[in-house]
Amino acid sequence: MTKYDVIVIGGGPSGYTSAIYLSRDTLSVLVLAGAQPGGQLIFTSEVENFPGFSKGIMGPDLMTEMETQAKRFGAEVMYSEATKVDLTGEIKKVWVGETVYEARAVVVSTGASSKMIGIGEEKYIGRGVSTCAVCDAAFFKNKKTFVVGGGDSAMEDTLALVKFADEVTVVHRRGEFRASKIMQERVLSNPKVKVLWNSEVIEVAGEPKLSSIKVKDVKTGKITEHNLDGLFVAIGHVPTTKLFEGKLELNESGYLRTTMTALMSDTKWRVSEKDMWLDGYPTMTSIEGVFGCGDVVDYRYRQAITAAGMGCQAALDTEKYLENHK
Ligand code: NAP
Repeated sequence: MTKYDVIVIGGGPSGYTSAIYLSRDTLSVLVLAGAQPGGQLIFTSEVENFPGFSKGIMGPDLMTEMETQAKRFGAEVMYSEATKVDLTGEIKKVWVGETVYEARAVVVSTGASSKMIGIGEEKYIGRGVSTCAVCDAAFFKNKKTFVVGGGDSAMEDTLALVKFADEVTVVHRRGEFRASKIMQERVLSNPKVKVLWNSEVIEVAGEPKLSSIKVKDVKTGKITEHNLDGLFVAIGHVPTTKLFEGKLELNESGYLRTTMTALMSDTKWRVSEKDMWLDGYPTMTSIEGVFGCGDVVDYRYRQAITAAGMGCQAALDTEKYLENHK
């Protein structure tokens, strides 16, 4: 069967949550979970802040549970990437290579990826390298940690880390932070924080865990080696929206715009805020019948639980849309 009620593109917490809700509502659902399903949690070790798991759960195990839960209600899951979309008509078309799949509605939950420095640090994710201090700071109690970046995310990660770590060194490639003044002040006034200005991390080493880095002062060229327990990379995110460029409205950073997020910045969006809450579809994108959820939309919170919550919202909006467009 290549015709479904809904195609969910993306297999992270938001995609699987919407698939659970939609398939449990007896709709036929295809999840295109991608070649590496599970979203960013696949790269995480222990997740301690997802409600319902009082002893914590490993990221990949949590994703397997979500997938199994979606399948339990009949969702079909394919470990394939969508390669092309035509979302314009009442029947939406999604291609995987040469094969086309059709549906009355589409949920886009393709997520975002953390930007990496590009020095091979990915191989230490879960073994000393993290891209989320809110998630992982608690594992670094009394440890020595470094944060890379000078934006609000780097400041937020630093402030999350000082609650646990003994030492937090921020490595920033310029001589001033890009972050908001208030966040900078909080970071710079904390006695546990040290800053290496005009500096770049150029090498990571250790086996099996990360144990040292080399930092280059870009002004003097001097290279120093530092022992550490944790390296937090906070240099921004890239939403996975290439497939939708020119097809769905994106914001200036490439994130998918939905009615809810568009109304925060653009009062000329198609519906008013009042209408959206009364009888609209807060998670609908710029095209009728196409909904967005999770990190591909959310550039603020980026947590598994917030993505899952938005996945539920997108599913409820989709159900209502399909009910109204029988
Ligand atoms: P961002 O504002 O783009 O900052 C990225 C930082 O990483 C910049 O300081 C940049 O340096 C540095 N950087 C980029 N590429 C690098 C590389 N290859 N090597 C080394 N350093 C690199 O990203 P963000 O901090 O994730 O914030 C994204 C948005 O979310 C912002 O609008 C931010 O205000 C918002 N946000 C808000 C909060 C909050 O309000 N609490 C928290 C998090 C994020 P340069 O400065 O030299 O370009």
